[in-house]
Amino acid sequence: MTGGPCDVRELHLPPGSELLGYSNGVLSVPSNPVIAIIKGDGIGPEVVESAVRVVDEAVKVAYRGSRRVYWLELIAGRQAYEVCGTPLPEATVEAIRLVRVALKGPLETPVGGGYRSANVALRQVLNLYANIRPVRWYGQPTPYKYPERVDLVVFRENTEDLYAGIEWPFDSIEAEDFRRFLWERYGVRLAADTGVGVKPISRTATQRLVRLALSWAIRRGRRRVTIAHKGTVMKYTEGAFARWAYEVALGEFRDKIVLEEEVESTGGVIPEGRVLVNDRLADNMLQQLILRPWDYDVIVCPNVLGDLVSEVAAALVGGVGMVAGINMGDGVAVAEPAHGTAPKHAGRNTANPTASILAGALLLREVLGWREAADLIEKSVVEAIRRGFVTHDLARYASDVRPLGTREYTMKLVEIVRMMG
Ligand code: NAP
Repeated sequence: MTGGPCDVRELHLPPGSELLGYSNGVLSVPSNPVIAIIKGDGIGPEVVESAVRVVDEAVKVAYRGSRRVYWLELIAGRQAYEVCGTPLPEATVEAIRLVRVALKGPLETPVGGGYRSANVALRQVLNLYANIRPVRWYGQPTPYKYPERVDLVVFRENTEDLYAGIEWPFDSIEAEDFRRFLWERYGVRLAADTGVGVKPISRTATQRLVRLALSWAIRRGRRRVTIAHKGTVMKYTEGAFARWAYEVALGEFRDKIVLEEEVESTGGVIPEGRVLVNDRLADNMLQQLILRPWDYDVIVCPNVLGDLVSEVAAALVGGVGMVAGINMGDGVAVAEPAHGTAPKHAGRNTANPTASILAGALLLREVLGWREAADLIEKSVVEAIRRGFVTHDLARYASDVRPLGTREYTMKLVEIVRMMG
């Protein structure tokens, strides 16, 4: 791996690698693509290094050495803040724009002060408008009773909502101006010790997400797309999200979809070749996800609710150590594990690297189109778990399993990839 941290002029593509191309909305993928890698903070370096080992092996085995990924190392988060004075150096952003694809570890965000989230900034500057998070069971121990019936994909809006970062501390000039404006213009009084945040949700951002989710669901033969929102209370943001979502479904996909009320008379039977589109209120969505996850397939959410829905979904299959997501824009994608930096596990060889490994598989499948290598990784994860190879986060839900360390689990997985190839 090569790379320069703060200055884009110090970045050199690995010799032998080629860039991905992009034209008319389609990526072209060489057999020797360069992929950016950000190891991240906390457990990030351990789990991302593990993912690189497994991805390299799976690509080598699946294509008998005729394809290879070249990694270009970049920095972001705490490490970048310390070295470059910013958690998201321009060099990192420019390099991802250039190579188009990145595998990213978790990045630390200080709570209640300090620098702003580099994750959120990265999604915004690269316009990675959709976070796609598949949640399924690989056979791992979990306290949930029906994990085998969980197979969901959460499409979460990634650039707006309360995550847009329009937020001011209670004692700032901006918050004071804002409170005064609300009072003088609209007669709305907020107490002088009120911090404020703004929740923007636009038709454009909502509809490009819903368009992506519906076309993805149709292409992959998924049967249901559920719009999750709290439109009863936040009428002009989340309510509008639902309305604009139906506008796309009915305006652009009418011959491919059917609405819930249209199949009521048939007891909910979805006609062949159609995707059912329905919606659920946020609170009901979260409880139904736990009670009857099998009634849900693709779930489309605004940003904040999407964070909660995807975390609850992850819990059903044993937690965030087993779930990955991909942040998609037009011609650019960043895959990452669902979890954060888990500081208490950092440097202790106890973290579960599977989420990062699955993030690598997602990149291979969804961006490069290297399905054989992605399938091999997923099959190997299933086989590793079947043999009782798991890290501590999962071993605690089984009575007879001795947990492996991050490195030992990775070695076992690499061996299984070789064996299954
Ligand atoms: P977290 O890092 O996901 O960790 C929460 C808990 O989940 C851990 O203490 C650990 O708990 C378990 N866990 C998470 N990942 C694991 C793994 N790979 N293997 C084993 N156990 C794992 O969430 P957090 O503590 O709320 O956040 C910590 C930092 O991460 C914050 O700075 C936050 O902003 C950041 N974060 C970053 C991202 C991102 O980069 N996309 C996402 C979320 C959070 P037990 O050992 O008790 O089970």
